[in-house]
Amino acid sequence: SRAMAKSKFEYVRQFETDDTCLRNCYIVVRLDGRNFHKFSEKHNFAKPNDNRALGLMTRSAQSVMEELEDVVIAYGQSDEFSFVFKRTSTWFKRRASKLMTHVASQFSSSYVFYWKEYFAEQPLLYPPGFDGRVVLYPSNRNLRDYLSWRQADCHVNNLYNTSFWTLIQKGGLTTIQAEERLKGTLAADKNEILFSDFDINYNNEPTLLRKGTTLIWEKRDEAVTKMVKLPNEEAQKEVTVTRSRKRVCPHHCDIIGDQFWEEHPDILER
Ligand code: ATP
Ligand code: ATP
Ligand code: MG
Ligand code: MG
Ligand code: MG
Ligand code: MG
Repeated sequence: SRAMAKSKFEYVRQFETDDTCLRNCYIVVRLDGRNFHKFSEKHNFAKPNDNRALGLMTRSAQSVMEELEDVVIAYGQSDEFSFVFKRTSTWFKRRASKLMTHVASQFSSSYVFYWKEYFAEQPLLYPPGFDGRVVLYPSNRNLRDYLSWRQADCHVNNLYNTSFWTLIQKGGLTTIQAEERLKGTLAADKNEILFSDFDINYNNEPTLLRKGTTLIWEKRDEAVTKMVKLPNEEAQKEVTVTRSRKRVCPHHCDIIGDQFWEEHPDILER
């Protein structure tokens, strides 16, 4: 552009720092909703889990994967989502701030853009924000351990929140009493409280809530109708053909064990 002609002000560019991500590493961008404890209350999220909110998070993450390049897998729970760029990505010359801000702004604008599709009756009262961070993982093991860490976090929090809100909603406890009751309890104790006092088998809770949401690219067959002109006819004719298309698909399964990775060997590079 014309700005190529240098002005005397141009030197200020030297103040920019190099934030190129180390080659060969997976680049993970994790977003987290800003002050969603308050946001969820103001927007009447169902407790402990609002399915509309989870659906909107997933829809926004899908938009990130479709609009940006090189995200091979994303994992989300609660008000957070992690996006993994492939190791060989050269998108925006691997500049951390570019990648992170593109993820965060695409996600935030999608969250607002699709709000009405998920919260029909509930108006959006103020613009939500998301923070972002970038972390590099040099090996497949490190990356898998990162994702395992987030899914384990999902499990711990969801077991706690399910117990906490069951004590309140079904047990009639106050929030302070419920907190007291759960203080110092282990996972087994919480399972036991749910089972013997409320007849809830935690393992039967929806996998969406227990495992979070994993988004990956998958080839799916799709029926496409198109108009074709036949050689000996004047008119066009509508025909349906099957096309294989890559799509972002959600999973709510365990990603800590080997099975998921064996079933989807293309996600990780060797
Ligand atoms: P990149 O993603 O690399 O930033 P870009 O297309 O956004 O690509 P910019 O150098 O940021 O490139 O330039 C922004 C362009 O957006 C301008 O060149 C102009 O065409 C358009 N644009 C921005 N604001 C306005 C405006 N207020 N009115 C008309 N055009 C605008
Ligand atoms: P920070 O800005 O530091 O992230 P925060 O209030 O967002 O603060 P988090 O630790 O990120 O704190 O917790 C997010 C909170 O948002 C949860 O504790 C929960 O109260 C609420 N929340 C997020 N998603 C849902 C959901 N789907 N249903 C109900 N509540 C939710
Ligand atoms: Mg936080
Ligand atoms: Mg948050
Ligand atoms: Mg959070
Ligand atoms: Mg621009």
